[in-house]
Amino acid sequence: MSTNESLANLLKEDRRFAPPSELAAAANVTANAYEQAGTDRLGFWAAQARRLTWETEPIETLDWSNPPFAKWFADGRLNMAYNCVDRHVEAGNGDRVAIHFEGEPGDTRTITYAELQREVCKAANALIELGVRTGDRVAIYLPMIPEAVISMLACARIGAPHSVVFGGFSADALATRIEDADARVVITADGGFRRGKPSALKPAVDESLTRPGTEKVRNVLVVRRTGQETAWNDERDVWWHELVERQSASHVPEAFDAEHPLYILYTSGTTGKPKGILHTTGGYLTQVSYTHHAVFDLKPETDVYWCTADVGWVTGHSYIVYGPLSNGATEVLYEGTPDTPHQGRWWEIVQKYRVTILYTAPTAIRTCMKWGDDIPAKFDLSSLRILGSVGEPINPEAWIWYRKNIGADTTPVVDTWWQTETGAIMITPLPGVTETKPGSAQTPLPGICATVVDDEANEVPNGSGGYLVLTEPWPSMLRTIWGDDQRYHDTYWSRFEGRYFAGDGAKKDEDGDIWLLGRVDDVMLVSGHNISTTEVESALVSHPKVAEAAVVGATDATTGQAICAFVILRGSASEDEHLVEELRAHVAKELGPIAKPKRILPVAELPKTRSGKIMRRLLRDVAENRALGDVTTLTDSSVMELIQSKLPTAA
Ligand code: ATP
Ligand code: MG
Repeated sequence: MSTNESLANLLKEDRRFAPPSELAAAANVTANAYEQAGTDRLGFWAAQARRLTWETEPIETLDWSNPPFAKWFADGRLNMAYNCVDRHVEAGNGDRVAIHFEGEPGDTRTITYAELQREVCKAANALIELGVRTGDRVAIYLPMIPEAVISMLACARIGAPHSVVFGGFSADALATRIEDADARVVITADGGFRRGKPSALKPAVDESLTRPGTEKVRNVLVVRRTGQETAWNDERDVWWHELVERQSASHVPEAFDAEHPLYILYTSGTTGKPKGILHTTGGYLTQVSYTHHAVFDLKPETDVYWCTADVGWVTGHSYIVYGPLSNGATEVLYEGTPDTPHQGRWWEIVQKYRVTILYTAPTAIRTCMKWGDDIPAKFDLSSLRILGSVGEPINPEAWIWYRKNIGADTTPVVDTWWQTETGAIMITPLPGVTETKPGSAQTPLPGICATVVDDEANEVPNGSGGYLVLTEPWPSMLRTIWGDDQRYHDTYWSRFEGRYFAGDGAKKDEDGDIWLLGRVDDVMLVSGHNISTTEVESALVSHPKVAEAAVVGATDATTGQAICAFVILRGSASEDEHLVEELRAHVAKELGPIAKPKRILPVAELPKTRSGKIMRRLLRDVAENRALGDVTTLTDSSVMELIQSKLPTAA
């Protein structure tokens, strides 16, 4: 945002949904929790820490004597993998399924907690045989297969911080991450299955290890997944099935300090150079475990939980691996894409495993809207009881579609706001407590302090917009940017004294509930008004012909910036000459004439990061007739050519 003008509050959304009474009556967390945390915030988190099993229980809760460097539970000691695996086996739940794995070709594997324990121990012993010691970094570059989860837990078990790199990233991206984290071992696979065929991974590792800065990698541990031809370096490469399989299935977990580094994860790069976000052990696990229990109301004996994210993103770390497993959940792990071999694959999986809790992203929901309502309608989705969303603001219409077409118009939808940096969910409704509002993340969780401020750091009144800030440290907060304390301070803690600057725009409604309005960098300035891209996009998506929209502000001689919209139509809608006028009029009616896009361009695809987020900065380049900026984190760079070819040279 570039002026003192606060963010205009344009969108009106009056639909409300009370929690189902049965769910509310049996909910893991009730309204009480807000009161408890309100009176004694640190006591509340200390109590949540006791949901974990510690070798040495912490006495200290928060050390904030050297802000912005926090220590949580610093005198406690615990082992991450023990908390996620062994303790469930010791409690007599070894036969419970931990992971229902579904490969893209249809192969399956069922892994109980007892089996998971053996697999993690073997992998831990294998890493030790490769010379990995506590504190050494291990890079993980794997498809969505059980070995990804096993590898992460094995690293955590021996105190070797992992750096998971999304399997879709290039050799260059992998190389910079290996170098930045100074990794000694890389765990990868010959390939994984994507879109119906094997897709190689090992060649990218080989290539990355020719780059300067990666010389310290001693070994590459390779899972055989696809069986495809794989180049081999006898001195360096080791097959998983040879090394791991012959290891002992027992390993005594050692306890580490609560502040022992757990992992480094590079942010997805929507806005610029990726940052190596460092998370540590005790506080992180406290919050991911508690939030998974609270936000998804997990009943480990009966629920089947499925988070569709990739383990390469923070959502995969916190809500496929550490949160659910620490709570003893039974979960689905799916390798492939949602439309292989058909566009109903996800719903087939929900039906097959009787999934009760589904956690996915707005991009996936909007894609399903585009494909059509008839596809999920063919499957029995009646097992579902809670739906979650994360990654971008969810447009109210996509929220309603999700609830109606996937959730039988009865399941609560929880829109969860958080970031790689926050480690765990921060702002969200609670399914048994909150009366939900489509498109709003609503309320900071118990023990979390968030608000919206203006340029001068003053809290904005209800009904106004500004910058989202977190006003108190939280257990799963990032501890620093790996190797760059100064950048950590400058990026997050310098914009507003003593407060964490999230980089997102937000508004408070009349009830004080929080609505996320997209990244501050994306906010448009039109005729002196700050307008959020999210609100204009949501207005477009509320038109029955539009499935997805991306809006940017392009420099304009008269208005400062002019709103330029790119839209994807729903399956049944066709592009006719009146469409653009119809959509412009629709936005004017929903938000007012100030928000009416100057140009609207129907397109087949939008540029997205590999985690599915719209990359508006590239669209801004197109709208302003500039050469495209960095496209390396884009899923498919041909999308941009397609869009540019549709564009008559900009006005
Ligand atoms: P980079 O920081 O490298 O640009 P990134 O911000 O996309 O990448 P993540 O940490 O994966 O990386 O994403 C966090 C961001 O995603 C948030 O700051 C916010 O912009 C957006 N986001 C996540 N969940 C929500 C949500 N429920 N509502 C609105 N926005 C969300
Ligand atoms: Mg970010």
